[in-house]
Amino acid sequence: MCVKEHAGMADELKGEECPVCRKKTLILNEREEEIPYFGKTLLFSMTCAGCRFHKADIESVEKKEPCKLTIEVSGEQDMNTRVVKSSQATVKIPHIATITPGPASNGYVTNIEGILMRIKHQTETAKNDEEDNETRKKAIKLIKKINRVMRGDEKAKIIIEDPSGNSAILSKKTETKKIRAAQESNA
Ligand SMILES: [Zn+2]
Repeated sequence: MCVKEHAGMADELKGEECPVCRKKTLILNEREEEIPYFGKTLLFSMTCAGCRFHKADIESVEKKEPCKLTIEVSGEQDMNTRVVKSSQATVKIPHIATITPGPASNGYVTNIEGILMRIKHQTETAKNDEEDNETRKKAIKLIKKINRVMRGDEKAKIIIEDPSGNSAILSKKTETKKIRAAQESNA
């Protein structure tokens, strides 16, 4: 990118106010992408040049129904399967991890390998900060398990539940179920 050092350009380079550091250095981005088998999708993001705050989300242009998607990952070839994950999605990988939505959740387009890499990275970071030996051992075991799934040596299920419907696992193997919009249970 070419940034012109011209006095008159200064105003244009100014961003929005950042919700974290309050400086006017927040750059908003919005673009449309056609995702095969999912449709036209809006990708939003905001990034602060000052404090590196980042938030991203996706939304299908077409209205989608609340959904539950399940795929069995059984080999290396599944790693390239595209995954659309909105900020409202819960991603469950039984015996491995659950990614729950929250105020800091992001929406993004990735693939199965990308999801597993994120979990692996988070587990590694947590392990390095952990002082308890047992917890560290558990983390190491989990990382090995994720590696086996990525190599195709072990099967795993990936379940995505999204009340906004703005998520997808783009594979013929994916089982799609409609769920109720209000998932408030009494449990
Ligand atoms: Zn900031």
